Amino acid sequence: MTAARGTDGVLVDRYGRVARDLRVSLTDKCNLRCTYCMPAEGLPWLAGSQLLSDDEIVRLVRVAVRRLGITEVRFTGGEPLIRPGVVGIVAAVAGLEPRPRISLTTNGLGLDRLAPALRAAGLDRVNVSLDTLDAGRFARLTRRDRLADVLAGLAGAAAAGLTPVKINSVLMRGVNDDEAPALLRFALAHGYELRFIEQMPLDAQHGWDRAAMVTADEILVTLRTGFDLTPDPAVRGAAPAETWLVDGGPARVGVIGSVTRPFCGDCDRTRLTADGQVRACLFASEESDLRGALRAGADDDELARRWRAAMWGKRAGHGIDDPTFLQPARPMSAIGG
Ligand code: SAM
Ligand code: SF4
Repeated sequence: MTAARGTDGVLVDRYGRVARDLRVSLTDKCNLRCTYCMPAEGLPWLAGSQLLSDDEIVRLVRVAVRRLGITEVRFTGGEPLIRPGVVGIVAAVAGLEPRPRISLTTNGLGLDRLAPALRAAGLDRVNVSLDTLDAGRFARLTRRDRLADVLAGLAGAAAAGLTPVKINSVLMRGVNDDEAPALLRFALAHGYELRFIEQMPLDAQHGWDRAAMVTADEILVTLRTGFDLTPDPAVRGAAPAETWLVDGGPARVGVIGSVTRPFCGDCDRTRLTADGQVRACLFASEESDLRGALRAGADDDELARRWRAAMWGKRAGHGIDDPTFLQPARPMSAIGG
C-alpha cells in the first residue's frame, strides 16, 4: 500500500501506518545489568551535553502532541527513574493540550518511593520488568541483588493507583524458562497483568541466538500446562501483545512475539532517544537528529517537518528473518526499549 506523503498533520509512513505512540528515552544509563541487555561493565554512556535537557524533552513532546497527533507517551530508557527530573517531565507532559496518556517502563527500583509523586504528576500506568521470582536467579540475571526492591516497587505502583500495573518478562532458555507458570501465578495473585516478550537481537554484546530464543509458541505451551488460555475477545489494535483470558478471565496474560509473530504492519510507534534522535523503529539503522536542529534554533514547524520526514522513511518490517539483517548499532538501552 502507498500513502500520501505526510507534509502536514500526523506521522504517516509510505505504507499508510500512522504513529500515535511516542517512546521517549530519558537516559541510556541503568542501575541493573540484565544479561540480555548490556554487559557487566555497563556501556560508554552519553555525555551530559549530549542528553536532551528536561525542557528540550518537553518541547519535543509538545511538538509531537500538538502538531503530530501523538496521543500516547511512554517514558523509558535505560532506567527512566534514575533521571533526576522524571517527575517534573511527567508533570509538564501531563499539562499539554490535548493531554496524552502517559506511561513508563521501569525496572522498578525506587518505584515504591517515587510512585505517589509520579501519580500526582499525571503518570497513568507503569510496566515493570521482572523475569524471575527467585532472588539468586535475579542477582545472576541482572547482576544486582535487588529482587526485593522490584517487588516493593510493584506494590508501591499498585498502591499509588498506577493501574493496571503490567509486568514484562523475558524468558531465556536454561535460565528462567521454567518460571512462566510461577510468574503468572504471582501476577494473578497480585492483580498485575503479565506479558512475556520474546528476546530480541538488541543486546549490546550481540549475543542473541535465534535458536536459543524461547518462542511465543513455547511460552504458550508451558503456560497451558497450568492454566486454561482462551483468546481474548478484546480488540488488539496496534498493541504488540496478543492476549489470552486466563481460566475464563477476567485476568489476562499477554505474549509479545516480536520475532516469531511480528506486528510491524500495525506498528504505531515513533521513538525519541535521550540524545534527541528520532527513530522510526527499534531496528532502524537510520536516525534523524532533532537535538541539533533544536539547538540551532529550529522553530516548532521545522521540528515537526523533520519528524514527519523521518517517519515517512519507516521500513515495512524489522527484517530479523532476512539473511541481510544487521543488528542496529545502538543497543536497546540506548534507543529506549
Ligand atoms: N530499564 C527499564 C526496564 O527494564 O523496564 C526500561 C528499559 S528496558 C530496555 C525495556 C524493556 O526491554 C524491559 O522490559 C526489558 O526486559 C526489555 N528488553 C531489554 N533487552 C531486551 C532484549 N534483548 N529482548 C527483549 N526485550 C528486552
Ligand atoms: Fe537496565 Fe532495563 Fe536493560 Fe535491565 S533491561 S539492564 S533494567 S535497561
